[in-house]
Amino acid sequence: MLRAAEKAGIEEIGFADHCNVADREEMVETKHEYGFNLDLTYERRRRAIASLADRMDVEIYDTVEVDYDPRDEAEIREFLADAGFDYAIGSVHFVDDVSVQASSRFADRSKADRRAVVDRYYEKLVSLIDSELFEIAAHLDLPERTPELRGFTADDHYAAVADALAESTTVPELNAGRALGDYGDFHPATDFFEYLRERDISFVPGTDSHRPAELADRLPVLSSAFDDAGLEPTRLLGVRDE
Ligand SMILES: [Zn+2]
Repeated sequence: MLRAAEKAGIEEIGFADHCNVADREEMVETKHEYGFNLDLTYERRRRAIASLADRMDVEIYDTVEVDYDPRDEAEIREFLADAGFDYAIGSVHFVDDVSVQASSRFADRSKADRRAVVDRYYEKLVSLIDSELFEIAAHLDLPERTPELRGFTADDHYAAVADALAESTTVPELNAGRALGDYGDFHPATDFFEYLRERDISFVPGTDSHRPAELADRLPVLSSAFDDAGLEPTRLLGVRDE
């Protein structure tokens, strides 16, 4: 990933492995299955980052993407305080402990049910933003990634998220994770992005790369999206600056 970043001319990169610190039984199973282990491995990864930082021509940030659930706020707060990452990204991936990316779980649900899942997703996202536990709120409209949940994100969700962001130190990312390929839009999608731009919400760039090749592919698209919007990526307060 670092070599890909160097090659792409990136000056700074954050590594945000997935992490879940819930001790609820359903989530413990799920995080084992998904391999969300950074709460156990971050010290080891930190040593790797320190040793690579000397050899690479890229500024590396030691970060994390944490699953947020209002029931886990105390655990998350304690974990982030202990671990002392450079910054933290908060995500809602689960509604009622089911991943909103799990198409098969929604295929047989009624329209009303699917709409209710999306409503609950945005309630959780607003409480993530209100909690101020994280510097960054990830992929704001994640349910749009899932064909079964697509199209249920509506103006009242935009408004609730915009109001919460306006009052919070947490900033959203413009996430290019599905900008190429089947879905073909950013998170947030164009209409939602424009809605937030009109309310002067600023964004950090996120390629959501899980593989080196994705970084190279997504970076130019992400960079054009900022240019087209006449927008400078924002910098995080409190993150070490050169
Ligand atoms: Zn995520």
